[in-house]
Amino acid sequence: MIFQVGTLQSTCDKCGATVTFTATEALIYDRHRWDLEYACSSCGNAQHTGGPAPLPQYIRDAILASNPPSRISLSGETGSGAVLLKVLRSLNGGSIAEAKAAAEEMRENGRGGTKVEITILKKALDAAGVDSIVSHSEGD
Ligand SMILES: [Zn+2]
Repeated sequence: MIFQVGTLQSTCDKCGATVTFTATEALIYDRHRWDLEYACSSCGNAQHTGGPAPLPQYIRDAILASNPPSRISLSGETGSGAVLLKVLRSLNGGSIAEAKAAAEEMRENGRGGTKVEITILKKALDAAGVDSIVSHSEGD
């Protein structure tokens, strides 16, 4: 399992005390999911929510705010742009124009994201035969 944790501050549903939520993004086998939980130290109220990817934007923001982004860049000959386009489109959906823009951006600058996102992208590129290099900035 690959996962990354972030925190965000909010208020307890029950007593209104400030609580720290723990946001988790995980890849369990090929299941990409997120979880959000807290336990209130004032009233003992505990909450948990979560679901399959895509992550709600605020969860992704919390993960990225708590962890340096991972990076991936293409290495060597990237071959046919069509393969990269197909991989990006299958992962991100969107229009062909959006996938083209994403592919071009990735060829030039690589791409940053959460550890789980970059791991998923790396696996998809490997499967498609596109060489890439990943760096996770947490020292692992
Ligand atoms: Zn509470």
